[in-house]
Amino acid sequence: MSLLNDLLKNNKQWAEDILKEDPEFFTHLAEQQSPEYLWIGCSDSRVPANQLLGLMPGDVFVHRNIANLVIHTDLNCMSVIKYAVDVLKVKHIIVTGHYDCGGIRAAMEKQSFELIDGWLRNIKDVYVNHRHEFLESMTDKQKLDHLTELNIIEQVKNVCHTTCVQNAWLKGQDLTVHGLIYSVKNGRLKDLQVNFDNIDSINDLYHIN
Ligand code: ZN
Repeated sequence: MSLLNDLLKNNKQWAEDILKEDPEFFTHLAEQQSPEYLWIGCSDSRVPANQLLGLMPGDVFVHRNIANLVIHTDLNCMSVIKYAVDVLKVKHIIVTGHYDCGGIRAAMEKQSFELIDGWLRNIKDVYVNHRHEFLESMTDKQKLDHLTELNIIEQVKNVCHTTCVQNAWLKGQDLTVHGLIYSVKNGRLKDLQVNFDNIDSINDLYHIN
């Protein structure tokens, strides 16, 4: 219980500090949220969306899972995207992976993690589909980093392939999908320069009409 008491004490202090800056902060926020960003990131405790973007509560809608995967049969992730795009009308969907990701490392190992195996298999698919890019001369770290980057790009495309995002583009909604990578070693984000903002930028096999 003492641990929980510490957390509640922290929370009380945090809320009081915010009210000192802006006495109406929570009153305004309680009325509605209108974030411009949907963040799809890793569950890793070192990669918290709001803190590393310098954003306040209300600024970013967040979905996190192991290794920031966007899987079309994942009702949780699909529902988050649908709500963010259709209801909140976010302008940016940011898929953010990070170096030193335990999920990526686990996917490169030949061992079972039981329930998590099916999840990690999606990352193995990315590796196998790009296996020609993993050269003998690369160190294990270089291979991990490369797979981490490829995985982000793959998930960015998965976001774009959803019916929801394509419908938004067809309706003329202002929406861009981005891929970023975060370094837990220095706290910095890097833009992977994979930005999609229209249906023509994705392979037409995925087009919904
Ligand atoms: Zn991770």
